Amino acid sequence: MEKTAFKDFGSMVFTNEVMKEYLPKDVYNRYLEILETSMPLDKPTADAIAHGMKEWAIGKGCTHFTHWFQPLTGSTAEKHDAFIDKDKDGKAILRFDGKTLIKGEPDASSFPSGGLRSTFEARGYTYWDLTSPAFIRDGVLCIPSVFVSYHGESLDKKGPLLRSIALVSDKASELLRKIGYADVKIVTPMIGLEQEYFLIDRPLYKSRMDLILTGRTLFGHAAPKGQEFDDHYFGAIPTRVQAFMKEVNDELWKLGIFIKTEHNEVAPMQFELAPIFCDANVAVDQNQLVMDILKRVAYKHGYACLLHEKPFDSINGSGKHNNWSLVSDTGVNVFDAGKSEKDHLKFLLFVSCFVKAVDSYPELLRLSAANPGNDFRLGCNEAPPAIISIFLGDFVESIIDEVVEGRKDTVTSEPISGLSYIPKDATDRNRTSPVAFTGNKFEFRMLGSSASPSFANVVLNTIIASSIDEFLKKLQGRSEKEYKEIIIDYVKEVFKDHGKVIFSKNGYSEEWVKEAKRRGLPNIKSSIEAIARFDDKKNVDLLTGYGILTETEMKAHKEVLAEQYVSSISLEAKTMLYMAESHIIPFMEKEITNKAALTASSFAKKRKEQLIIMLDELALALDELRMAYSKLNKEDESLAKGLLARETIVPLIDKIKGLINDYEKIASKDVYKLPTYPEMLY
Ligand code: ADP
Ligand code: MG
Repeated sequence: MEKTAFKDFGSMVFTNEVMKEYLPKDVYNRYLEILETSMPLDKPTADAIAHGMKEWAIGKGCTHFTHWFQPLTGSTAEKHDAFIDKDKDGKAILRFDGKTLIKGEPDASSFPSGGLRSTFEARGYTYWDLTSPAFIRDGVLCIPSVFVSYHGESLDKKGPLLRSIALVSDKASELLRKIGYADVKIVTPMIGLEQEYFLIDRPLYKSRMDLILTGRTLFGHAAPKGQEFDDHYFGAIPTRVQAFMKEVNDELWKLGIFIKTEHNEVAPMQFELAPIFCDANVAVDQNQLVMDILKRVAYKHGYACLLHEKPFDSINGSGKHNNWSLVSDTGVNVFDAGKSEKDHLKFLLFVSCFVKAVDSYPELLRLSAANPGNDFRLGCNEAPPAIISIFLGDFVESIIDEVVEGRKDTVTSEPISGLSYIPKDATDRNRTSPVAFTGNKFEFRMLGSSASPSFANVVLNTIIASSIDEFLKKLQGRSEKEYKEIIIDYVKEVFKDHGKVIFSKNGYSEEWVKEAKRRGLPNIKSSIEAIARFDDKKNVDLLTGYGILTETEMKAHKEVLAEQYVSSISLEAKTMLYMAESHIIPFMEKEITNKAALTASSFAKKRKEQLIIMLDELALALDELRMAYSKLNKEDESLAKGLLARETIVPLIDKIKGLINDYEKIASKDVYKLPTYPEMLY
């Protein structure tokens, strides 16, 4: 790699190799031991690591360090401290010790806590997460951390994720050991996150307050050309975008992120990039960096990178695909069908555990993809429907059918021998399914592009851990010779009881909505309705039962989600009112005045009348929105407020959008001074 474009790969990461170089051998070995056994970090080791980290960071030009964490806002937070300190003679020295490395105390009062923190104990603490490497960005040493309240409650996205990873590792490795994989010690959820985004010219972005404030265009008449020609998808990447992508790759490679693919997406000026999968904790951290670097580099290249789920009406929005599998320290992927009968049984068993898990907790999975922006995508014929179902593909389904129906040729002595023919790519591309089996992993396709992928993985890990746990009970007191039969019985049982969640046809169709209803599958249409279901008894039992979140933490997290929903819809309402008053109405008035001069033209007269009607309609709708907004603010309770916002504000914003779009259709270019869709997208 020395002389290649990849020579700087990982140069900004405090990797194990770097550690080896910067730490005394015994300290490094001790660190590895601590990682493996999860024992507490002792002071001398922490001090020695801190010293090594500081030396490395300063050598790279760093002046500051920060505990880098992921509060419940879903983005990241950092508070920088310089390495500089004063010694007892007042001289400047560099200082960074173990205590500072392990624990930080940001002013926590402005991060959402859902009521977990009263002002008199506004403190929160960050603790170093040893399992995700420190890195340097903009001259700052960033130390990935968890964030907890004064009383130790989880206030971030990482804490629950780490707990769910430990849980699924415990359960899955126990099961693997029982069914013939005796050497397995650890099982790690692996994820690969495909990230979609839009680019638009920065000057255009800067002239649209809706994009700046809410991340999406609140109105805008569709461009004459949409995505009907499918000419953008996988098309040649424009030169300027290519330059942008090159720098994005360079920056992300330096951060040790294996960015592998990049391509145009379906909509104009929409693109995607994806790294090679890695362990879930690091992958979630890295996805935050990906989103951050996309925005920063876009800025440098005169673009704005839009991560909103639906920045433009009438063309596709952006999502994030979460490819997920469970892989052991011995290299066994539980969703890999393998070649031996042992592998086949393991595969069928884990797929069954997953199917049962998804069918048992669809509301939680739906919630994990809930954010206001995603409400414009899910169920709108461009992203999976809001109904949770699994696509397994014909091949896997046919094998399972064979097992379930106990067909003679396959279930006698060699019950599932046919499985050895499972080709890795035996997966067709049913893009309409929220959860799809893709060869040796499940792809969760519901996430919005701006979302933190953390909670989705908390859910995936926890629900499958719960199915595995139940299955483990079936093995208790039974002899190993019986295991095969028990597994096959379990597969049958799962597909009989939970097969209703399997669906392989068109998820965009109206028939599916009806069919899903008939099957009793939930169809939770909006984020706020999904949030309302968070503390359903079965979800509380699951998450508290496994210690992923306490009941208090769940309440707090729910509160934060609802608050965020309300803030987001309120901001849209206010921005809409502002833009209508300060831009659209003056445009319309000017247009009416201009037409008034053209008295001789009957067309101008008609246009003028039309514009006057439009203006009146718009003014009325704006009044309605104002009224609804002030009514909303009389409601105190966040969830009720969110539901009210969904019911009253969202449709009004939509109605006003329609009215403004109707006007934009006939607006003259010299009056309508906002960037339009054709200008932004082509
Ligand atoms: P697609 O055709 O949807 O782009 P790919 O197979 O190229 O699918 O993979 C997409 C993402 O899935 C990449 O980030 C890739 O690294 C990741 N991936 C591949 N195999 C696994 C696996 N076993 N577990 C988790 N993620 C994986
Ligand atoms: Mg994909």
